Amino acid sequence: MVKISDYFGSLVFDDRVMKAKLSEEIYMKLKKTIDEGVRLDLSVANAVASAMKDWAIENGATHFSHWFQPLTGITAEKHDSFISAAPDGRVIMDFSGKELIMGEPDASSFPSGGLRATFEARGYTAWDPTSYAFIKGDTLCIPTAFCSFGGEALDKKTPLLRSMEALNRQAMRILKLFGNEKVKCVKIFVGPEQEYFLVDRELYNKRKDLIFTGRTLFGTMPPKGQEMDDHYFGAIKPRVAAFMKELDAELWKLGILAKTEHNEVAPAQHELAPIYTGLNIATDHNQLTMEIMQKVAYKHGLVCLLHEKPFDGVNGSGKHNNWSIATDTGVNLFSPGDTPYENAQFLLFLCAVIKAVDDYQDLLRISVATAGNDHRLGANEAPPAVLSIFLGDELTEILDAIENDRPYTGAEKTKMRLGVHVLPKFTRDTTDRNRTSPFAFTGNKFEFRMLGSSDSIACTNIMLNSAVAESLRIYADRLENAEDFETALHNMIQKTIKDHKRILFNGNGYDDAWIKEATEVRGLLNYRTTPECLPHILDKKNVDMLMAHRVYSEVELRSRCEIILGNYCKTIAIEARTMLEMSRKEILPAIEEYLLKLARTANEKKSLIPDVPCEYETKLIKKLSELTDKIEEETGELEAEMKKALAINGVKEQADAMQQKVLAEMQKLRGFCDEAETMVAEKYWPFPNYGDLLFYN
Ligand code: ADP
Ligand code: MG
Repeated sequence: MVKISDYFGSLVFDDRVMKAKLSEEIYMKLKKTIDEGVRLDLSVANAVASAMKDWAIENGATHFSHWFQPLTGITAEKHDSFISAAPDGRVIMDFSGKELIMGEPDASSFPSGGLRATFEARGYTAWDPTSYAFIKGDTLCIPTAFCSFGGEALDKKTPLLRSMEALNRQAMRILKLFGNEKVKCVKIFVGPEQEYFLVDRELYNKRKDLIFTGRTLFGTMPPKGQEMDDHYFGAIKPRVAAFMKELDAELWKLGILAKTEHNEVAPAQHELAPIYTGLNIATDHNQLTMEIMQKVAYKHGLVCLLHEKPFDGVNGSGKHNNWSIATDTGVNLFSPGDTPYENAQFLLFLCAVIKAVDDYQDLLRISVATAGNDHRLGANEAPPAVLSIFLGDELTEILDAIENDRPYTGAEKTKMRLGVHVLPKFTRDTTDRNRTSPFAFTGNKFEFRMLGSSDSIACTNIMLNSAVAESLRIYADRLENAEDFETALHNMIQKTIKDHKRILFNGNGYDDAWIKEATEVRGLLNYRTTPECLPHILDKKNVDMLMAHRVYSEVELRSRCEIILGNYCKTIAIEARTMLEMSRKEILPAIEEYLLKLARTANEKKSLIPDVPCEYETKLIKKLSELTDKIEEETGELEAEMKKALAINGVKEQADAMQQKVLAEMQKLRGFCDEAETMVAEKYWPFPNYGDLLFYN
């Protein structure tokens, strides 16, 4: 039997391989680059490239590719083969340090939000040595950042790395103040839980909406939905089990720590969670995971749907971003410590997150804004579009005690130790986790649950890292100049609690009463849609903060805003066109055919028995005829609104029209078509219904 440990990471040029394949000197130099960001000189790059190439060829690769994450949301790669012509006419396999370090893909069709117009037409990719190269199929993939020649980021990795550096910089200032002399840097760890649907490929192929948009644009709930909760952690179907088994093996080969696979709440919905790892690698791994899920599903006659809302009336799919910060000496900064001093440090980092989430609610919401995710957030589904933090009862009580200068007398296990003023010693929170909270503290990490299933986790972590870096900067500025550190610390923690407690909420996050309280009493933001929230990325406070930490330039932010809103418009337009095509070419003809059948039946009955009433046929013919007229009329309305929207020049105005006008017409059209579906005989309906899709075998 093949052991997992024999093939785990077998397709990754990781530390183990580097050690084995590089000379001691080259390995040490490369390590310095990876750990400390020291520039690599070309001779080292040449040696690394040569070793990488030999290893890749040994493992079946013939090509190499700079692998990057442009702003389209998926990953991009351009394959070059290793072959090179030798002077004597033979070919040799060649890969130079220069080719490893930099590439120049023809970037002109990647979105740049106008960036390239002002700079160079081409972009370049630059090797990111902090994420390991790996083999996919016959290609050695080299993780890279993607920039314009002016240095503007055209991808998600560049700002992600910048945000990690910003958080590191500020966290180190705080750690110094607490006397952590041995710590050299902090690292950010993320474990993203990934939800997805699987559907049968033959059924999928019969639905244009799934093919073109990734979600169903028509369809009514079958008699059974998710009400029994019998799918959650239920027995896994054999075909799905085979898929999961192969998926795990493929991920393991790539060094991805896929750990748990289970069924989710909705029928046909599943989840995969890896063991957490460093943020940069976690981001690359999540992109790879989504890609491999789709490939492996295909092999099993399935299709993996990563859309946030493939089915109306059934839970959508999200992604949970479990996030923590730890020192290079292995201390998790969100773990309450053993001494009051450590607890004070923990409380300060906790407060930094509370302040960050409250001050930058908008940026966190923006970081998950897509047309697909709008169907979950703010649409009576967990989590809501309103941000709040769940801390659990115990921690909430502690903060409450600090706020009011009261000693803490909570649960029995808590011991009071007044080392740093009133900051008590306490053990880890054990309250039940609140599943409805968008941002939950879960013992030693925060779990952000607003991400859509297809999102790159880069966007969220860029904003989270930056916002927390900003809180820490403010704290460090004050503490570094404080006359009495302990008093200043206590006052600052207390002030944070007072100023930001409105963001703390332990109750049910999708209760309507909460949304009302959150927005009307607490003044929290509730941006329900992408066009509503996205422009706020350019609010002065946001631009200032992101620029101060050197995460984004203003031009980069403008370009991103354009691109995301542009994608939103394109997505809705594609959905609208797909609906038009399906209504006109599939649904209306199908209803007509059924009407004809009904009419013929009635006529034949009458020819046998002249005075037979044929009430059933007559009524149905009448209702369905009315519906066909409404559907036909509504397709006209939808088309008109879509054309009007597409003619609008400004991208924000166009996005508003898409959201307010086009989506509304789509909803109406769907209503009429879905009503017809309930009346037309199943065998006349032109594509598989929800029951078929959700309860396949
Ligand atoms: P849930 O109860 O939400 O399903 P788990 O406790 O199983 O969650 O963990 C979910 C994810 O959180 C996993 O990917 C796990 O590796 C990750 N995780 C655990 N500890 C940490 C940590 N300290 N930092 C970041 N992620 C973590
Ligand atoms: Mg979770």
